[in-house]
Amino acid sequence: MTATPRSRTPAGTSEPKREPIPFAAASEAPGPRNRERIMAAVRELLTALGEDPTRSGLLRTPERVADLLQDSFAGIGRDPAIALGTPIPYEQDRSASEDHQPARRARDAVAVRNIAFQSLCEHHLVPFTGHVDVAYVPARFLGGLGRIAALVREAARRPQLQEHLGARVADTLIAVLAPESVLVRITAYHACVAYTEPGASRAEVVTVVTRGVVDDPHARALWASIGPT
Ligand SMILES: [Zn+2]
Repeated sequence: MTATPRSRTPAGTSEPKREPIPFAAASEAPGPRNRERIMAAVRELLTALGEDPTRSGLLRTPERVADLLQDSFAGIGRDPAIALGTPIPYEQDRSASEDHQPARRARDAVAVRNIAFQSLCEHHLVPFTGHVDVAYVPARFLGGLGRIAALVREAARRPQLQEHLGARVADTLIAVLAPESVLVRITAYHACVAYTEPGASRAEVVTVVTRGVVDDPHARALWASIGPT
């Protein structure tokens, strides 16, 4: 399945148009037909590293690695927007006249915190794991709370940089829900940091991506809803 670019822009947004992060073509996805190729490549890698892939301890390693990598790369060629399902129309409370004022609406943030994920660093092909906090100020649509967690996990199933995972989640929310504003914060541990800098093995990498109208009072509402890490 190929990605379907969407161009809806939230009302009031004056940001320059951003280039979407490209999705790999579906033909590049490591589907079941490629399992044998992946296993052969793992055997070759082991041999190149000086191992004997025929020794008993490594005999099933290629198929285990193939299964693990196929799952970790499963999002390639898929638009993560699919995980969001159908947006829910946002019925604003019109019982009080002040609710029609933009200043009131700007305080109505929704946050889903502490969504666990695992992904692969595209520079080293080793895991980075952690949690994602998502907050947005809705305009016309809401996302199902479980659907937002599903979006994070679907967006994570490909090799990438942490910065791009946050952008992918934020841009998908903008495209599908057309909210006033979005904030995505990711807190993660990177195995490659632990390998290369053992003294920093518990270092947390925090990235924040914002989209839409993120000046006051939207920013206050987003940060208040998302809270400290
Ligand atoms: Zn890395």
